[in-house]
Order: sequence, then structure tokens, then C-alpha cells
Amino acid sequence: MDSSTYLDEDRHRSARRFARRLYIPRIIGLATGFFCVSSVLVMQPVSGWWWLLLVAYSFIWPHFAWQTADRASDPARAEIRNLMVDSLMGGVWIAVMGLNALPSALILAMLCMNNVGCGGLKLFLGGLGVIVLSCLLTLGLSQIPLNLQTMPSQVWICLPLLLIYPTYFGLVSYRTALKLSEHKRRLMHMSTRDGMTGVYNRRHWEHLLHGEYDNCQRYQRSATLLLIDIDYFKSINDSYGHDVGDEAILALTEHLQLTLRITDVIGRFGGDEFGVIMSGTAQESAIQAMARVREYLEEFRIPHAPRISLRISVGVAEFDKSMVNYREWLKAADVALYKAKNLGRSRTEVADIAA
Ligand code: GH3
Ligand code: MG
Repeated sequence: MDSSTYLDEDRHRSARRFARRLYIPRIIGLATGFFCVSSVLVMQPVSGWWWLLLVAYSFIWPHFAWQTADRASDPARAEIRNLMVDSLMGGVWIAVMGLNALPSALILAMLCMNNVGCGGLKLFLGGLGVIVLSCLLTLGLSQIPLNLQTMPSQVWICLPLLLIYPTYFGLVSYRTALKLSEHKRRLMHMSTRDGMTGVYNRRHWEHLLHGEYDNCQRYQRSATLLLIDIDYFKSINDSYGHDVGDEAILALTEHLQLTLRITDVIGRFGGDEFGVIMSGTAQESAIQAMARVREYLEEFRIPHAPRISLRISVGVAEFDKSMVNYREWLKAADVALYKAKNLGRSRTEVADIAA
């Protein structure tokens, strides 16, 4: 499947979900609205056709609206059309009730809330125009007399629409907000973490290093940077396979997480290389921490390759205010790592910082 087809399908699915989200609110809104309008119509002589239209609109239309949106090639556009039908019919019922104050105000408020919630200011204004127009047209054509006063019994009958619909609408909005924040959290996690190990990916880790560099420069704080690379990792891959290589990477990650402080920032550089930022730490403490990691690794055996022990080379660079940017700091640690490799591996080397 090519990416444009995939995107189209995704858009169609989310448009269907949008239409589906309005299905239950429409059922609730129109059922409670039915009692509002009926409470006025029973008090005034209106043709039986209005009653028929009211029942059909209140109880059949929500299902018909969902079916048409669900089957449409563009469900979102079909649902906007449905919302316009709701606005049009709202205007009609306001007119048929002779602009009876409370039910009319309620229907107007609910429609406006719905429209602004579904399509922002544009749909709100469009819907308002349709309501006013259809109301004036119905008043003009049917010559229904104005009947502005709401009786106390009608107030009570309007209560369900007044209470249930906004509460349900609020609940739907709340759930949508929760879902959005969960999506945001997941996206954030995906964009900052390494998929295999769960530690920070290189891009985000470098971003954090940049921040640490700025803090050290501004507040004269100390920090130490370490670059860690597994020795002869290719030979583990070659002799035991990629899966065992992955196990080795995961074991090292897990052990770094267990041994280092919670405030130490671990990132995977890709392959078998890791970076650690030790904030507020002098290089001696960082070297000691690496000695502890090494001690553990000497004892540790990969379950599927018990004959080999993992060895690491480490380059250490303490922050120095003469460094012009964070890249220079990183470069110093990289040079130290290179030196550790050249001097025979399985060792920690410290960067020479020219003061
Ligand atoms: P050195 O001692 O000089 O570090 O040698 P090395 O064999 O460890 O070589 P190097 O660090 O340059 O090689 C890293 C290798 O890691 C290259 C690549 O095939 C392998 N690799 C990269 N990503 C992964 C991964 O996610 N899983 C596994 N199993 N291997 C990986
Ligand atoms: Mg290596």
C-alpha cells in the first residue's frame, strides 16, 4: 500500500470516528429536545404534520444521519451537512414554538455549543446564520403567532435538555482531551527514546547535553560527559548472531540504569555506543562509577553466550568553561574514547582539555 493511500484511509477512519462521536449526543439531544418542543406544541393548535415531523426528526433522524455519514465517501463533510440540517431544523422548531422564550433559547444555545465544539467559529457562525434564516422563513410562511412566555411546567419539561445534554457534551470533550494528552505523551516518548533500549535517542540526548552545557557555563557548575562503546562487538554479532548482540546491548543498558544515579542522563548513540551526562559530578567520581560498571560486567554472562564477557571502552570529558560549545565537549569525550580503543580497549581514558 503506498503512503498516500494509507494517509487517505487514515483520514477516512478519523472522519468516521468524528461522525460516530456525534451519534449518541444527537440521540440524547434530540430526545430531550422533543419534550421541550412538545411542551409548547401541546398548548397551541398546530397541524398534525408538525407533530409527525417532530417525531420523525427527534427519533429517526439521528440514526439516518449516522448511516449517511458512515457510508459517505467523506464522512466528515457528510457530518457537517448533518449539523447544518440540525441548525436548519432548530430554526424551524423555534419558529413553530412562536419563539417561546426558554425552549427557544435552550435549542439555540445547544446548537451553538455543538457547532462551535465540532467546527470552531466558522461552523458556529454558519450554523447561526442557518438557524436565523430558517426561523424567519418558517415564521413568514406559516404565519405562526408569537408566543414568548414560558410557563412554569414548560420550564420543568425543558430541564432534561438543559442538564443532560451539556453534561454529556462536557464528558465527550473531557474524554477527547484525555485521549489527546495520552497521544501527546506517547508521541513525545517515541520521538525522544531509542526504540530498542528505551533510553534517550541520540538527537534528544544531544539536546539535553546542549542544555547541560548552557547551565554549566551560566552557573559555573561542574558536569562530566562519558562515551561508552562495547569492545569487539562486531565479533559477538558475527559469532553468536544479531539477537545475542541485541541482548548484550540491552544488558549494558540495564546495568548502566541500575548502577548510575537517577539524575545521570543515558542516551544511545546508535550501534553499541552510549553517552552519559553526569550533572554536578567531577570526573573522578565518573571514573569510579565506570569502574563499578566494569566490575559487574566481568561477572556478567549473556545467557545465550556464556563464554564471552562484555568489555567496554570509555572516554571521559569534564566540562571546562574554555569549551566554546557543547559539540567541543562531545568531541573531547570522543577523542578520549578513541584513545581508549587505541591503547588496547577495556579501559577509561580522560580527555586532555587545553585550558
Ligand atoms: P570496537 O572494539 O572498535 O568498538 O569494535 P566493534 O566490533 O565494537 O565495532 P563497532 O563499535 O564499530 O561496531 C558496532 C557494530 O554494531 C556495527 C553494527 O553491525 C553493530 N550494530 C549496530 N546496531 C546494532 C544493533 O541494534 N544490534 C546489534 N546486534 N548490532 C548492532
Ligand atoms: Mg564497539
